[in-house]
Amino acid sequence: MAGEAPDTLLIANRGEIALRIVRACRRLGLRAVCTYSEADRGAAWLDAADDAICIGPAAAAKSYLNFAALLAAAEACGASMIHPGYGFLSENADFAEAVAAAGLTLIGPSAAVMRTMGDKVAAKRAMIAAGVPCVPGSEDVLPDDRGAVARIAADIGYPVILKAAGGGGGRGMRVVRQQSELADAFLVTRQEAQRFFGNPGIYMEKFLEKPRHVEIQVIADAHGAALWLGDRDCSLQRRHQKLIEEAPAPGIARSLISEIGARCAASCREIGYVGVGTFEFLFQDGRFYFIEMNTRIQVEHPVTEMVTGLDIVAMQIDVARGGQLPLRQDQVRTEGHSVECRINAEDPRTFAPSPGLVTRFHVPGGPGVRVDTHVVVGSDIPAHYDSMIGKVIVHGADRAEALSRARAALAELTVEGVSTNAALHRELLSDAAFDAGSVTVHYLENWLAERERRHG
Ligand code: ADP
Repeated sequence: MAGEAPDTLLIANRGEIALRIVRACRRLGLRAVCTYSEADRGAAWLDAADDAICIGPAAAAKSYLNFAALLAAAEACGASMIHPGYGFLSENADFAEAVAAAGLTLIGPSAAVMRTMGDKVAAKRAMIAAGVPCVPGSEDVLPDDRGAVARIAADIGYPVILKAAGGGGGRGMRVVRQQSELADAFLVTRQEAQRFFGNPGIYMEKFLEKPRHVEIQVIADAHGAALWLGDRDCSLQRRHQKLIEEAPAPGIARSLISEIGARCAASCREIGYVGVGTFEFLFQDGRFYFIEMNTRIQVEHPVTEMVTGLDIVAMQIDVARGGQLPLRQDQVRTEGHSVECRINAEDPRTFAPSPGLVTRFHVPGGPGVRVDTHVVVGSDIPAHYDSMIGKVIVHGADRAEALSRARAALAELTVEGVSTNAALHRELLSDAAFDAGSVTVHYLENWLAERERRHG
């Protein structure tokens, strides 16, 4: 309405995703307020926001993870919404509850849904009930009784993988190849689960030897509509951290993808899911196996935006505010192919973070090239947070064109002052097996080990 002040959205995050959310707010006519820690004071992306509020010292526990500081910032700027981005508090059900209790709208699903999906055993149970295929495994957290655990493993068949029910970030997992290793692995994984996640519950799955990581992007509104927006392949991972993502997943029959996509959208309707989400699957021998659901926007959402032409972050904010999805499933079209390279400030050999001052920064451009970054010349990359400094995303008419554009874009990217993984991306984009498509989740680790052997 004319003359009425726009609603305010507070961004409880930093870096490229904070900037991405500011951009979505611009499109929606919302006032965007960033929060920042003392380590991020004066950072360039804050200039893009309508306002910025300091929420505490560099340590994330005292700033980006600080409920009280974030809620006080929301009150101070008159925000009616909080967007948590990814990482930090984005999947924290207690935070979702605190935001709701303060009378604010969290851009994300309800605390109850977050709690179910945050418990991987509960999530699998919900998916089995909704008819989504899962990795064969224990139906519940494992009992204390060693004999019973051994029987479960024997039923599933070795190799198996032990996983923390409350796990995330690729931690708290252990492969067990034979029964003689089981008892020790059980104890160690349970201790890790307690230490990392404050929850000693662990469960067991069949360990798949050569899976790909394929995921389905979904979005659902509060009026009962749910869509799947296509698939992504994120198999190129190191220590379970994704490095290159693409859409669509190469070499999988579209009929198979449509079937699993429709199943994901249907299960959103069944569980009353509202918001964006990602169903993560392992894909092996022509079959999908659900592993977990992420109840937030993901780092790799741009490849889906590139092939669908949709603004997923704007849609995410809209459905959280009660808006209706603006299209039907048959109107979701994907075109061409998109690839994303995550650029990290890290040592190219050891992968140790490389914080510091960026002294030169040139980002690629041209047809089909998008760069999502918060970095400019003079940016200080703090040691306190994730080392990702940006994402180079390309689009092409087909996969070959997308890869060719990715190679050209990575050749043009210049970053000085901090070390980056740009050279690794250049090598991988020219790797024959990756170029052929459909490498497994183990490919990159093996490739790195092989390179290490050659260069000693
Ligand atoms: P996290 O939440 O910690 O990321 P996930 O359950 O999503 O854990 O698994 C992360 C990665 O671990 C997968 O992408 C895959 O590479 C590997 N993984 C997990 N479960 C299995 C399994 N049953 N068999 C083989 N690899 C697995």
